[in-house]
Amino acid sequence: MTRKPLISGNWKMNLNHFEAIQTVQKLHYLLPKDIFEQIDVSIHPPFTDIRSVQTLIDSEDLDLRVGAQHCHWEDSGAFTGEVAPVFLEKLNVEYVVVGHSERREIFGETDEMVNKKVAAIQQHGMTPIVCCGETLAEREAGETETKVLGQIEAALAGRSNEQIAVLVVAYEPIWAIGTGQTATADDAQSVCHAIRERVRDLTDDATADALRVQYGGSVKAGNAAELMGQPDIDGALVGGASLDPDEFARLIQFSVG
Ligand code: PEP
Repeated sequence: MTRKPLISGNWKMNLNHFEAIQTVQKLHYLLPKDIFEQIDVSIHPPFTDIRSVQTLIDSEDLDLRVGAQHCHWEDSGAFTGEVAPVFLEKLNVEYVVVGHSERREIFGETDEMVNKKVAAIQQHGMTPIVCCGETLAEREAGETETKVLGQIEAALAGRSNEQIAVLVVAYEPIWAIGTGQTATADDAQSVCHAIRERVRDLTDDATADALRVQYGGSVKAGNAAELMGQPDIDGALVGGASLDPDEFARLIQFSVG
């Protein structure tokens, strides 16, 4: 089964909409046009940038995909400061990150909330990128798989095999995010494999083999090739390195070999 890899740039709370336009233009200019036959690339800017990025991508017919970093699960209501999935759908957003460890740790996002968001995002025709990952203490206590597989089971509860087959899981060890420390390719492969096998147990072979599993945590141009060469790693969720178009373009190119 060949899965088209997905590289996603999570800009977090960085780059205003003017900077976003310049960054996207430069990134697209630096990438060979035929690379998009081999790999999908999504950009996840802050909410205030999305309309500008979407307009640029649509008007210049760029091959990049528009993404978001977060959303609520309801279509409307008294949720001050939140953004509904239906608003993102109207902006041609294709991928929405759900349950990033920063949302879980800083803003109290629970497994139950993640599960509701996955359903809402799919209901609006977009693809959730479901994040999971262990803390350093959990890793050292030998609890990595228990934590990660528990998060994935909770996120996917109630989803059909067809719905699970088209979503994306991002395995992001929390101790590796923004720290410059990366899981070894063997360790990252081992957890991504365990995720796929748990999904196989919950669903069937076709679903598990179709699921795209990203690795995230200090992925750079220098380590992308080794990580992306692992059989169960189908792309990367990239924070810091996605803010610099030169570095991100190199990372994407090294990811396809
Ligand atoms: C992330 O934003 O999810 C991430 C993995 O960040 P970084 O690549 O900077 O570690």
